[in-house]
Amino acid sequence: MEYAIKEVAGIIGTKTDKLHDNTISILLTDSRRLSFPEQSLFFALKTKTNDGHKYIAELYKLRVRNFVVSTILPEFDAMADANFLVVKDVQKALQKLATNHRKRFNIPVIGITGSNGKTIVKEFLYQLLHNEFNIVRSPRSYNSQLGVPLSVWQINEKHTLGIFEAGISQPDEMERLQPIIAPTIGIITNIGEAHQENFVSTTQKCLEKLSLFNDCEAIIYDGDNAFIANCIESACLSHKAIAWSRTDSEAPLFIESIRKKENKTTIHCTLLGFNRVYTIPFTDDASIENVIHCMAAMLYLKPTSVNDEEKFSHLEPVAMRLDVKQGINNCLLINDTYNSDINSLDIALDFQQSRRVEKKLKSTLILSDILQSGTLPKSLYKKVADLVRRKKVDRIIGIGRDLCEYGNVFEMEKEFYLKTEDFIKSPSFRKFKDELILIKGSRHFHFEQISELLEKKVHETILEVNLDAIVHNFNYYRSKLKPETKMVCMVKAFAYGAGSYELAKTLQEHRCDYLAVAVADEGAELRKEGISIPIIVMNPEFSSFNVLLENHLEPEVYSFRLLEAMIHETERRGITSYPIHIKIDTGMHRLGFQPEDIPAVCERIKKQSGVAVRSVFSHLAGSDSYIFDDFTQQQLDKFAKASAELETGLEYNVIKHILNSAGIERFAKYQMDMVRLGIGLYGVSASGQKGLRNVSTLKTTILQIQNVPNGDSIGYSRMSFVKRDSRIAIIPIGYADGLNRHFSNGGGEVLINGHRCPIIGNICMDACMIDVTDIDAHEGDSVIIFGEDLPVSELSDKLKTIPYEILTSVSPRVKRVYYRE
Ligand SMILES: *Cc1c(COP(=O)(O)O)cnc(C)c1O
Repeated sequence: MEYAIKEVAGIIGTKTDKLHDNTISILLTDSRRLSFPEQSLFFALKTKTNDGHKYIAELYKLRVRNFVVSTILPEFDAMADANFLVVKDVQKALQKLATNHRKRFNIPVIGITGSNGKTIVKEFLYQLLHNEFNIVRSPRSYNSQLGVPLSVWQINEKHTLGIFEAGISQPDEMERLQPIIAPTIGIITNIGEAHQENFVSTTQKCLEKLSLFNDCEAIIYDGDNAFIANCIESACLSHKAIAWSRTDSEAPLFIESIRKKENKTTIHCTLLGFNRVYTIPFTDDASIENVIHCMAAMLYLKPTSVNDEEKFSHLEPVAMRLDVKQGINNCLLINDTYNSDINSLDIALDFQQSRRVEKKLKSTLILSDILQSGTLPKSLYKKVADLVRRKKVDRIIGIGRDLCEYGNVFEMEKEFYLKTEDFIKSPSFRKFKDELILIKGSRHFHFEQISELLEKKVHETILEVNLDAIVHNFNYYRSKLKPETKMVCMVKAFAYGAGSYELAKTLQEHRCDYLAVAVADEGAELRKEGISIPIIVMNPEFSSFNVLLENHLEPEVYSFRLLEAMIHETERRGITSYPIHIKIDTGMHRLGFQPEDIPAVCERIKKQSGVAVRSVFSHLAGSDSYIFDDFTQQQLDKFAKASAELETGLEYNVIKHILNSAGIERFAKYQMDMVRLGIGLYGVSASGQKGLRNVSTLKTTILQIQNVPNGDSIGYSRMSFVKRDSRIAIIPIGYADGLNRHFSNGGGEVLINGHRCPIIGNICMDACMIDVTDIDAHEGDSVIIFGEDLPVSELSDKLKTIPYEILTSVSPRVKRVYYRE
């Protein structure tokens, strides 16, 4: 829908005179997601970690002409043909605009909140109702203070039902989301411990969530959940409550029985007095509960919509993530099995573009017909073609009848097939090479066949790395610092085992200031992969100056010998002011100049022109423990003195830094100009901080299960004997993968289907054995070595070492798989 900019100004309460007559239809909050500049209205949001005003000049160059700002900058004068709507609070303006937009539509809107399952319930409802309504819904899990207004903005005249989710992490947030969604029907899925930090109690959090439903006609929830039921009563919402129940036969939706078989569940229930039986293709309790929430909502919204029992049996699992996997012939695959609609295509294309590197990967989209879009195919595919062109896709492979018919609107290398099998059998299927391939299809096109064939077949043992968690942890530390403090992210040792390139790319995208690696070759690899931000090399070797200078890597300089060599190399090549980083030893006694060397260092540097000091730093030996706080304080004082002396001696300012992860957590006062974030980025807090997210999960699968009779021994050297008839699982991970052999014979545990199981026998080179006698486990089940529920720190404690060693021991042969949620 289009809005005149004057109308927008009126709504958000800014002056309308002097505005150029423009129309806008897209709300842009992230400059990197720009696709339609003329129609975009950019909101220059200020967050704890960033400021949208910084990107205005860049966006103006890309032809964006409409901005909502809170600060007027001198550079705006040169942008006379642009509109600047000046408000006090940019986020509130965005929310106001969305609220006003919502008010124009008198359609039923389902608002979903709760701790878990919001996205699943939303997507199930979509699957169950899309034949009866033209539905607008939140893309993916857009449920935040920003995501909600952007979701609601999508409503247009054609929609007959809205489904939006709302998530909060602080008191008062729901108050702002309520008028934007203005739900007529509410669903609260459940209340757990997630996002509890900012609430005094679970009750407070629940009441806050329920405030979404203040103006609802009906509220759907699990009536057997006494906690939620009490909260609903306290919030005086009981008169709107539609509780479903497994125990109360008077409930409007009474669940008589739930029977699980193999891979299905049969639910017997009474709906408004009618007996019905539904079969759903899931057996886990969360899915069952989610489906029941849907039934109750459908019953209220349109009772006839529950009549078709068939469609419940066709429910499909909701895939929530974008996977990046190594493909054949140097291809990278991005798999998006999430519903195929144009919004999620937009998001997936952005992700594809952000993965695209300077090296010559061609960008290819494999797309199926977009079903149930509610738009005529002709205009839909025109829009898709426009989007795909703007996101710089080089080649499209379209599958489905509509794409075959309307494919001519795509102006790029293209080919079309009626069916997935036709494509797989085609000659071009065997020709993929050096491509970044986004695979995005509606479910019944079964694109998983495509991705399976294109995936490089690997070892079953993988290290899964959650890039969103990296970003979360990065921002977590950033929020503890002053906005102007710079950050170095330590990606040495293959990014603490997680894989440096994907991480570096992600960090660069999130505007990290510096990366640091151990040796020059690591830095050169990153440059080859297209990393352009400054990189510090911590241990430059005398033999690697070529690599260093050619890749513009900035060395740490810790001795006179190294300083001389750097000066010699740079002057010889006619380079001037090459950035170096001076390391001072304040007590760690690893590498570094001594504080008393500073005058001589200054003198030498002033007499030459090859190098210039970019920063000066030191490293803390015991910042993680209070036992060493006196010593740490001595180091901090020594460094303050030495770095000041260096600046005075050089007669120019240099960046000063001393804190590592634990230092940021415990001595934020000494952040100076920059900090160096290491282990915390990877989700491990040295001082027990709660706000970090797990990044890496080492997992494998059960290859075989053997029944072993009482008294037999397991593995090499017969170190374990079973003392009962046992079931033993064999998993393909051994000490050559980094599973420490000291975990043998009950020394370590793994996690299978949520249960801890001991390692039995000696760990072999490529495999080990697990006792699964006490649990329900099957061949092919997933096995977690470490991850969210089996933290790295637990493994390191068992081995009397530190998490760093566990993380960096995962062998390079273990494949790293990156994903975003
Ligand atoms: C590795 C390293 C860091 C990061 O340390 P963490 O404890 O992982 O945060 C910081 N500074 C230097 C000099 C390092 O070598």
